[in-house]
Amino acid sequence: MHLDLTDRVVVVTGAARGIGRTLAARFAAEGCRVVAFDLAFDEAPPSPSTSPSGIDEVVCDVADPASVRAAVDTVVARHGTIDVLVNNAGINVTGAVTELEWDAWRRCMDVNLGGTFLVSQAVAPVMQAAGRGRIVNAASFAAIVPSVGSAAYAASKSAVVAFTRVLASELGPWGITVNAYAPGMVPTAMNGFAEMPTAEQDRLLDTLSLRRWETPDDVADLLVFLASDAAGYITGTLVDVSGGKLATQMPARAHGR
Ligand code: NAD
Repeated sequence: MHLDLTDRVVVVTGAARGIGRTLAARFAAEGCRVVAFDLAFDEAPPSPSTSPSGIDEVVCDVADPASVRAAVDTVVARHGTIDVLVNNAGINVTGAVTELEWDAWRRCMDVNLGGTFLVSQAVAPVMQAAGRGRIVNAASFAAIVPSVGSAAYAASKSAVVAFTRVLASELGPWGITVNAYAPGMVPTAMNGFAEMPTAEQDRLLDTLSLRRWETPDDVADLLVFLASDAAGYITGTLVDVSGGKLATQMPARAHGR
């Protein structure tokens, strides 16, 4: 299948590092004009092999309405339109419900859910004017099967899925699709999986049918497809890209463990 995304204007939020950074590089490699939103950009550029050039970087706090409005206006002024929005920016807040601080709960909701709402709300009229568009929202396996201590994070991601379904229907008349995706376990700064003791890594890997860490490129493969014309009839859904995290209870048995 040839997924031609040449010249599409793609906004990826939270793209200074982690999964978002790879997503931005992959869309650039597909010939898109990519704009990265993040709180700050201070890392070295992505490797030349994954990023040809020219990822536009715009400082934006997705939880701040004024910042989002200014950032989206900047994209439209520079590129004329927005074809694809990836709401990837997110934070992880952990803690038992009995101990969780209200400020931490609120920040998790403000960034993960509020940020998805604010950037979608600012970008939707641009897509409506163009009569096309793709919005893709980062959820998580935690939206379906949460872990102990993840009340704030899981609730925010579950809400992103419900938000996705409603927005898909509201933007359907313009041919704009809106979907969410559920990664499993991608070692990043957010979770520190790669730095955990081997026994703990084994315990986590034992929950995956494919029994390997997910890579940002596993996520990017899905998103390039969802952003393409080939995915034009897929909307309002949550796509599981978790390596089987949600498939069975004890997948390690199949690996002889
Ligand atoms: P990460 O922490 O490595 O990167 C997140 C990025 O979002 C950072 O660059 C950060 O600066 C940015 N960000 C945070 N708050 C922001 C704000 N207010 N405004 C703008 N940018 C902001 O995380 P990651 O692991 O790459 O995760 C990316 C997304 O994927 C998140 O939404 C996360 O919940 C989701 N996810 C990740 C995993 C995983 O295993 N890594 C699993 C499921 C879902």
